[in-house]
Amino acid sequence: RSVAALGTPKVPHVKWKDIGGLEDVKKSILDTVQLPLLHKDLFSLGLRKRSGVLLYGPPGTGKTLLAKAVATECSLNFLSVKGPELINMYIGESEKNVRDIFQKARSARPCVIFFDELDSLAPARGASGDSGGVMDRVVSQMLAEIDGLNDSSQDLFIIGASNRPDLIDPALLRPGRFDKLLYVGVNSDASYREGVLKALTRKFKLHEDVSLYAIAKKCPSNFTGADMYALCADAWFHAAKRKVLTTDAGSNDKEHQADSIVVEYDDFVEV
Ligand code: ATP
Repeated sequence: RSVAALGTPKVPHVKWKDIGGLEDVKKSILDTVQLPLLHKDLFSLGLRKRSGVLLYGPPGTGKTLLAKAVATECSLNFLSVKGPELINMYIGESEKNVRDIFQKARSARPCVIFFDELDSLAPARGASGDSGGVMDRVVSQMLAEIDGLNDSSQDLFIIGASNRPDLIDPALLRPGRFDKLLYVGVNSDASYREGVLKALTRKFKLHEDVSLYAIAKKCPSNFTGADMYALCADAWFHAAKRKVLTTDAGSNDKEHQADSIVVEYDDFVEV
């Protein structure tokens, strides 16, 4: 996929309230990005330092969601790149992809570049299996682009995500680069899961017999946000199916509208 194929960056639609159970990390990321934006005058005094955020932790815990929500909240365009997409076997192409990404983001300012799977884009240089040193050159190009941001205006942000931060080239994690590390993980508390379930079902009409806390307590303690997404999607499916089966064949369309679907406790079947 070429960089052009990534399309024009736009402000995403993920709202702050779409994310449940990550209160501390939500606050940290918002402070890092939003405070300097809202109070440019204050934050440009003193020692200026911009920070890229690295969200790390197990898969399916909401890293992508957080990056999008902070962009929505701050009205920033969002350019998402998966590390492996930038790697091209042709000599020079991968570095060009990195340059093109930053160029695209500059022309879409204010903008966030979200580097998903940052570890695959930037494994420690000199690692074995890097045929022709492609990865070394990609990392060098990344460093040059990120350092170049310091001289440009304050409205370009980098957020990385990784399941394996230990594999990332340490040079990328130095001050001024991806130096704000935020752990996004699974919490074994039922109240964490309740928060996520609340966010995921916020547009559902729930039957009065539904206690999200009771459902949260029955979920395995290692349940991730993505697991709860699947649970809620299934619950919606069951409720919609019941609606279809109990509605007269000749009824009008209005009865099939989403707001006429009521999700009951037993629809959360996997728990
Ligand atoms: P990966 O490392 O696999 O890219 P990720 O941490 O970026 O995973 P997301 O893509 O943000 O995970 O989450 C996957 C899906 O799970 C989301 O689209 C969302 O529906 C749901 N989800 C995950 N965490 C949360 C959460 N804290 N609140 C609400 N929904 C969540």
